[in-house]
Amino acid sequence: HAKATGRDDFRTFTPQMQRQASRALQLESALRKALERGQLSLHYQPQITLDNGKVSCVEALLRWHHPQLGDITPSEFIPIAENSGQILSIGEWVIRSALAQLRRWHDLGLTWLRVAVNLSALQFRQPRFPQLIEQLLQECRIAPDMLELELTEGVAIDNPHQAVATMRQLHAQGVRMSVDDFGTGYSSLNQLKRFQIYKLKIDQSFVRDLDNDGNDRALVSAIIRMAQALGIRTTAEGVESQAQLDYLREQGCCEVQGYLFSAAQPADVIQAFLLQHAA
Ligand code: C2E
Ligand code: MG
Ligand code: MG
Ligand code: MG
Repeated sequence: HAKATGRDDFRTFTPQMQRQASRALQLESALRKALERGQLSLHYQPQITLDNGKVSCVEALLRWHHPQLGDITPSEFIPIAENSGQILSIGEWVIRSALAQLRRWHDLGLTWLRVAVNLSALQFRQPRFPQLIEQLLQECRIAPDMLELELTEGVAIDNPHQAVATMRQLHAQGVRMSVDDFGTGYSSLNQLKRFQIYKLKIDQSFVRDLDNDGNDRALVSAIIRMAQALGIRTTAEGVESQAQLDYLREQGCCEVQGYLFSAAQPADVIQAFLLQHAA
């Protein structure tokens, strides 16, 4: 919906806007049936701890394959699911499925492995969200410290009081919280301390040009040192080259995630990677 702040903001409804709106409506209604029709799945991407070379965690990333529309990217359908409220049921399915998969991996002997899931603000703001997490952990017999919840920096903005209370409760339960896409939002150092954050995920936009952008190198180095000072771990996202890896290691980054190691892949493909890596 356009903001009506004055004459200058008036926009005509162009054919392109019309196409986008009708695509969004089409996706919204197709998404209502996606879960029950088995069109949603999770892919997993490993995070590697640099000081021991182990895969400490896998991030669950949602995929949607529609029989006629093909693969639809999360960046297209997640906002639609958020605006229509469907993210609540889809998000619960994501957490339950990721924990059930982690249970199978623990049963295979990969007992140190954790799973990370992405959360939307709407999920996090549900009044009984910590209770939901507790219930899902019990259902799958997973210890709370094996689950990481990835939140973006915007999540706390409109209701910092409730956000702090929810964070405190999750922290007390033993669940770990990460700030995703760190550096693209508005967190203050003060907030990071209050929120009892376990790790910062350095956004891939700072990692991409590490080889030839001195500013990005300075920023990444500063983020890592700030996190170290606060006792917060760091994970670099979007690591694609050996040169990026070398710099991150030299600066003391804790974990890395990116195509250099593996893209997000279906559970069976990642399982082979995990077993090979553990051997
Ligand atoms: P994110 O959580 O920051 O995930 C990282 C994205 O970067 C993923 O895109 C991943 O496939 C991609 N990526 C990983 N390594 C590399 C690399 O080396 N190079 C490049 N160029 N990209 C890399 P994806 O899977 O398309 O997900 C996009 C975003 O959609 C995610 O960003 C997350 O914000 C959201 N998302 C995905 N699954 C869920 C979900 O279950 N719930 C919610 N609320 N959001 C989700
Ligand atoms: Mg993420
Ligand atoms: Mg990210
Ligand atoms: Mg993102």
